[in-house]
Amino acid sequence: MDFAPSSRSAELSERIRAFTAEHIAPVEPEVHRDIARRREHGEDRWTPPPVLADLKVRARAAGLWNLFLPREHAGRYAADFGTDRGEGLSNIDYAPVAEAMGASMLAPLVFNCNAPDTGNMEVLLRYGSEDQRQEWLEPLLTGEIRSAFCMTEPDVASSDATNMAATAVLDGDDVVINGTKWFSTGVGNPECRILVFMGVTDPDADRHSRHTMVLVPMDTPGVRVDRMLTTMGYFDEPLGHGEVSFTDVRVPATNILLGPGRAFEIAQGRLGPGRVHHCMRAIGLAERALELGVRRAMDRTAFGRPLAKLGGNGERIADARIAINRSRLLVLHAAWLLDQGMSRAALSAVSEIKVDVPNMALDVIDLAIQLHGGAGLTDDFPLAAAWVGARSLRLADGPDEVHRGVVARLELGKYR
Ligand SMILES: Cc1cc2nc3c(=O)[nH]c(=O)nc-3n(C[C@H](O)[C@H](O)[C@H](O)COP(=O)(O)OP(=O)(O)OC[C@H]3O[C@@H](n4cnc5c(N)ncnc54)[C@H](O)[C@@H]3O)c2cc1C
Repeated sequence: MDFAPSSRSAELSERIRAFTAEHIAPVEPEVHRDIARRREHGEDRWTPPPVLADLKVRARAAGLWNLFLPREHAGRYAADFGTDRGEGLSNIDYAPVAEAMGASMLAPLVFNCNAPDTGNMEVLLRYGSEDQRQEWLEPLLTGEIRSAFCMTEPDVASSDATNMAATAVLDGDDVVINGTKWFSTGVGNPECRILVFMGVTDPDADRHSRHTMVLVPMDTPGVRVDRMLTTMGYFDEPLGHGEVSFTDVRVPATNILLGPGRAFEIAQGRLGPGRVHHCMRAIGLAERALELGVRRAMDRTAFGRPLAKLGGNGERIADARIAINRSRLLVLHAAWLLDQGMSRAALSAVSEIKVDVPNMALDVIDLAIQLHGGAGLTDDFPLAAAWVGARSLRLADGPDEVHRGVVARLELGKYR
């Protein structure tokens, strides 16, 4: 196992950092201020700011586009849709690139590498029919449209995906969809045009064969965004997390992904790499928080000394460095295992990082907030929003406890 980044990965990460420093960082604070201003004045704050579209054009022209495309499934899409060298990346090569993007809230959007679109594009790549790919994957790869993943429901404990109660019932050549989903990330954005919906088709089948995934265009009659949710006060514009109702929504059965009753097969394939991406971005976020914290602690003075030299601050900063480095190695290990093919070890490793990294990031961001004093809690700095983002990750894509359950089951299984 060699964790030195390949020359391609190192070069791409460097180019992402340089692009972010030159083009994204200078406009990012203004983008956030503009959204806050529009929110305050009751204006539309969901339409992405025009500068985002300009940045996307530049990123695509630079070949820093769709870098999430996996080596083994990218096929012609990497070549046709502007990815560097026309090739997909392995998980281990993409990991440092995702870390570089994670340092900025806007960067994943600029490089067309943001959740949930990456996961949805991967689903279409792996499981979509030729027609489905042409209609939905291609405009997602160009960044013309956006998507959302509608699995979680307000009325059932959704950490157990077999609980999902919304329905997707076959009726002749159509599927009829009913139910309510929430935490559908991305539905606030008017560019969101396609939903990946999961519902029960055959309630009498085996628990893992009841559900179907269906592509539902946003403008289908009966689809309604009932409200946008806050996460600890944040709306996370321009994507947002919505509650969406589906009332007698009818789409052609050709919109079914893979086949009726095969939602769990898709969910398995969708989440492994996506979790590695989330974790690497969270490491980038923790790095950014540590940098902000250290700079603040060196620049401000109290009791006659820089904050960094007071009390146990030096030790806390050292512990944060150790924690980030340790987590990064865990993630690289998980990425490397995934590149060898799905195995019990890879399954455990992905769940291990899904528990470890958000908790590590929370601790590091908390330290940076503390070092900023009261300012750390304001939106004058990106730390409060970063903390909420890391906190959300302890739930999104499965709560910590479910992932600990996976690790424990595999561990206990060794001694049966
Ligand atoms: C910011 C954000 C974005 C999200 N985006 C999406 C999205 O785009 N699409 C989507 O479909 N969903 C999304 N989600 C939803 C997320 O996946 C769910 O919140 C998560 O799966 C948990 O489901 P639940 O909220 O129903 O919690 P519940 O299932 O009700 O669980 C509540 C708590 O019970 C405990 N618990 C559950 N299982 C166990 C166990 N086995 N052992 C011990 N304790 C347990 C845990 O403490 C857990 O947090 C998002 C969530 C957030 C916060």
